[in-house]
Amino acid sequence: MIDREAYCSGGLLNDCKQNYSYPIGFAEDIWSREEAERLLPLVEERLQPAVKEKHNLSVYQRRAERLGVSLLDVRQAHVGTDRSKELILRLRGELEARGVRFMLEREVADIFDEQGRAGVVMAGGETLRCRKVLAAPGRKGFAFLQQVMERMGIAYIDNVVDIGIRVETRLENYPIVTDYYDPKFLFPEKVRTFCTNSGHARVVLEQYHGFSLVNGHAFSEQRTGNNLANFALLKTIGLKNPVRSGQQMAVFLARLANEIGGGKPIMQRVGDFRMGRRSNSETFNDDLFSFPPTCPVSAGDLGLVVPAKIMRHLWGALKKLDTIVPGVLHPSTIMYYPEIKMYANKPAFLDPFFRVTDNVYMAGDGAGTSRGITGAWASGIRVAEGIGAAGLAH
Ligand SMILES: Cc1cc2nc3c(=O)[nH]c(=O)nc-3n(C[C@H](O)[C@H](O)[C@H](O)COP(=O)(O)OP(=O)(O)OC[C@H]3O[C@@H](n4cnc5c(N)ncnc54)[C@H](O)[C@@H]3O)c2cc1C
Repeated sequence: MIDREAYCSGGLLNDCKQNYSYPIGFAEDIWSREEAERLLPLVEERLQPAVKEKHNLSVYQRRAERLGVSLLDVRQAHVGTDRSKELILRLRGELEARGVRFMLEREVADIFDEQGRAGVVMAGGETLRCRKVLAAPGRKGFAFLQQVMERMGIAYIDNVVDIGIRVETRLENYPIVTDYYDPKFLFPEKVRTFCTNSGHARVVLEQYHGFSLVNGHAFSEQRTGNNLANFALLKTIGLKNPVRSGQQMAVFLARLANEIGGGKPIMQRVGDFRMGRRSNSETFNDDLFSFPPTCPVSAGDLGLVVPAKIMRHLWGALKKLDTIVPGVLHPSTIMYYPEIKMYANKPAFLDPFFRVTDNVYMAGDGAGTSRGITGAWASGIRVAEGIGAAGLAH
């Protein structure tokens, strides 16, 4: 197993919320409920989650339904950023005990499969040969995977992208989180809540080449709380004729936001947004605005950078959410932009095991087979079953 980081993974290391209910974290065009539900118990057996209880679900569901909104009942667990390394080290130990060799802090530059010989080329030029390659470089590896697919002549589509904001507010303005850790609301116009954090919750920057995005995470229950909650509100964009790259659209929008934000994302208080004026440093220090942002990026105006249709649908969803959980649109609530999920680089798969050439498989968030930890695990199991079926399990 080769990884350019010291600790493999994105979400396993950051926050590590685990969702065990289809379709959360699965690409529905690739996964049937039956197939996902066959593998989720195997994932659970390995990750050994402490599943969280939920309360008052029917109350929120009734309010939601009246507005044409669904609140999904999801089986969830949360590890927390401060305890995730323990989990990764346990999993790594289990793999090593089964004979897996790790090459960490080593980057793969290319993948090949020529005349029955597959392998990878490492940054620096070393070539490693093997019988089968599984490429799972995650969301951050989307550009790498695209390059490999272009070079190997593997057809792919990347017409879907999720674009939205991260909302941060006081816990008392979003009390549902004490009943349901990560409530999954589905609004009209393909808008949904995603990755809700509370307890000791923080908004963070994610660095990419030439721009940064926002994300959120929380520490485990062992940490003292900071009385804040944050969640993403994302709109799924499916580009149709003429089909263009969702990734390119995302990068373009992210760069625009970073340009207007002086090299950083933008944040705006709900009170300012409502009045149609930009936020500025006073907005973030004034007595009315009672909590400091956990991710102090550039105070500004979302109206200048979020495409109008996306903003309208996000704002419409927030107003509905404020009726279901009154308080979330308090004037002090902060909206950070951009939060973008670039994971849909879907190769043309040759079989149900995510094989793309004779000996190369592509799976996980980078290849669009998953959108979360459990979906990525299930994808890995499906590839393993394919390799096993090809007679190479041992
Ligand atoms: C900050 C953050 C927080 C998240 N939080 C959650 C969460 O709480 N719950 C949840 O369900 N999902 C979460 N996710 C999503 C989750 O991480 C992914 O769905 C899941 O990890 C995908 O698994 P994967 O194996 O496809 O890729 P990853 O887990 O991202 O692993 C890809 C690995 O490939 C390595 N890599 C990439 N390119 C190369 C290269 N060229 N050479 C060598 N190594 C390379 C990376 O270093 C990385 O370790 C989060 C993602 C991020 C980025």
